[in-house]
Amino acid sequence: MTSSDPKRVTFARRGLMLVISSPSGAGKGTLSRLLLDSDRELTLSVSVTTRDRRPSEVDRVHYHFISKQRFMSMRDGGELLEWAEVHSNLYATPRGPVEEALAAGRDVLFDIDWQGAAQLREKMTDDVVSVFILPPTMAELKARLTRRAEDAPDVIEKRLHNAKAEIEQWPNFDYVVVNDDLQGAFEDLKSILRAERRKRSRIAGGLKGFVETLVG
Ligand code: ADP
Ligand code: 5GP
Repeated sequence: MTSSDPKRVTFARRGLMLVISSPSGAGKGTLSRLLLDSDRELTLSVSVTTRDRRPSEVDRVHYHFISKQRFMSMRDGGELLEWAEVHSNLYATPRGPVEEALAAGRDVLFDIDWQGAAQLREKMTDDVVSVFILPPTMAELKARLTRRAEDAPDVIEKRLHNAKAEIEQWPNFDYVVVNDDLQGAFEDLKSILRAERRKRSRIAGGLKGFVETLVG
């Protein structure tokens, strides 16, 4: 089922992969949380990372915080769908939970960087819907990273330094949303997800039977 409204006609389908990327601080984490809280059919892909846990983060909820050794063993054992080094730390998407969710018809949200998005797009082209989030200005990006106050000043500097190169990746994404007004950007994301769930190629199997019945 793909609609939370039981009165709507829905078609069984494979889950889609909603991939959200942005330079650090543009707001993809905030937008992802809003989307997950508003949509019970969407589940988060919880990444593994070798970076230190931030004070506000909970292990296994925001990330699986693991050692570099464990990361390498997962990578070499084929347990990762994609992986990348970002701001000097390693991040990756565990394969099992994603494959399970998609096969069960559940949509999965990925908060990952552009390198990971590129790998998923390459491997699972038909499943991926990619969205790039841009900040309204670089000054606001810096202000948000500072306001978040969860990273050390040198870490914030490194993230700002990397932001320009990351922003250059926008042409590789299906959709681009400017996160100026949070509510407006959230509405944009909800609309993208809603439209993609109606895409003919995703629901073709169920739709065929429906139309056959419809026309008798
Ligand atoms: P990212 O996950 O992209 O690194 P976050 O979601 O952590 O970024 O957002 C960085 C900071 O900016 C947070 O403190 C968040 O509350 C704030 N923020 C996010 N979106 C907006 C917005 N539209 N306007 C103002 N502040 C925002
Ligand atoms: P942060 O340290 O701020 O949580 O994340 C830093 C960057 O790593 C962000 O751009 C975030 O989207 C990205 N990231 C988080 N998890 C993954 C992952 O599993 N794979 C990849 N490629 N990037 C990730």
